[in-house]
Amino acid sequence: AWLDARPLADVLAALDSDGEEARVNGGAVRDALLGCPPGDVDIATTATPDVVSARAAAKGWKPVPTGIEHGTVTVVVEGRPFEVTTLRRDVATDGRRAIVAFTRDWAEDARRRDLTINGLFLDRRGRVHDHVGGLADLEAGRVRFIGVARERIREDYLRTLRFFRFHARFARGALDAEGFAAAIAERGGLSRLSGERVRAELLKLLVAPRATETVAAMAQAGLLAPLTGGVPRLARFARFVALEAGRPDGLLGLAALLQFVAEDAERLRRRLKLSNREAKRLQGVGDLFPPLHPGDEAAARASLYRLGPEGYRDRARLAWADAGGEGGRWIDLLSLPDRWTPPVFPVAASDFIKRGVSAGPELGRALRLAEAAWIAADFPEEPAAIAAIVENAVASAG
Ligand code: ATP
Ligand code: MG
Repeated sequence: AWLDARPLADVLAALDSDGEEARVNGGAVRDALLGCPPGDVDIATTATPDVVSARAAAKGWKPVPTGIEHGTVTVVVEGRPFEVTTLRRDVATDGRRAIVAFTRDWAEDARRRDLTINGLFLDRRGRVHDHVGGLADLEAGRVRFIGVARERIREDYLRTLRFFRFHARFARGALDAEGFAAAIAERGGLSRLSGERVRAELLKLLVAPRATETVAAMAQAGLLAPLTGGVPRLARFARFVALEAGRPDGLLGLAALLQFVAEDAERLRRRLKLSNREAKRLQGVGDLFPPLHPGDEAAARASLYRLGPEGYRDRARLAWADAGGEGGRWIDLLSLPDRWTPPVFPVAASDFIKRGVSAGPELGRALRLAEAAWIAADFPEEPAAIAAIVENAVASAG
């Protein structure tokens, strides 16, 4: 039904006529055959990018040359983007990206793809075209490379990660032996992958249904270290996945998987090209703060004040997984942000300047000391208590 729905049907019709062919390819075919509604629909075609652009423009659609060196034109119809890519074959590779040539041979285009289940085409009449044995593998829950695994990995080391990601998502049996052995033999290439590509695949892997066993197999085979550099905590990750099932969050999964100290967070930020926001989020849930214990609400309030509600929720969920995930008093800790809003620090720089502290490093130190004392005292509101905290800070900062 989704295949006949506009605007997809219109795009396919415009490209699959007058001497050219067009078919849906990749993830959308795979997902549809498994009964999941496809997300992004990518289209493969015999038409060259200039023909694609011309036919789109003739229909009044907007063609955007998004990856013209790879033969990709994004056709935007009624606000919906469709990636249309001309059939290609790989002619050379540097292990990080392929150099491609156009072809009109569907089998050739299928063979340059990574996994058999990703090598299927679906035409607009609903017929599946399988040149790589993908249908049988999809039915059997087998995730394996097209062609010789080791050669395919050498052409693009990201395929190692994709092999594990799709295994974790779709496979029903054990890891494909040839693929697993090839991944191990070629593990040296993983460290050459760019952070952006690793991060995108890794975060998707961590939220797949079989992430736990898959990640454990990777860690035991030494395939995780070149990607993250961190120390894996497989038991905690397994509990986290069990608790978070159906609420996927790759970044938090990464935090659950790895032990964090300040240097790890920084190394990971650089390796995976994390944004400042993401790096801050990781640090917030890392082992950089005092641990949370059920029953110690004052410490929990201090964490909530320092981290804010989102950071606190992350941290509480991880600490809960760490502790085994039982209910009881953890429920109180997890729901703290719904019951308590951190107050605003009631002391200002002027309170210190009035007491003779001069503006500069001394003032900053005094403010930090006073804030820490106020948090440690569980956020007192009485003026006398606050005045005492200020006096103490003046005395210690001087
Ligand atoms: P998802 O649902 O996660 O998007 P997908 O299979 O659509 O899965 P994409 O990264 O969108 O994954 O890639 C689209 C298609 O392009 C794949 O199905 C596969 O056929 C091909 N492909 C993607 N990356 C590679 C690669 N590194 N090597 C070979 N083929 C690839
Ligand atoms: Mg896709």
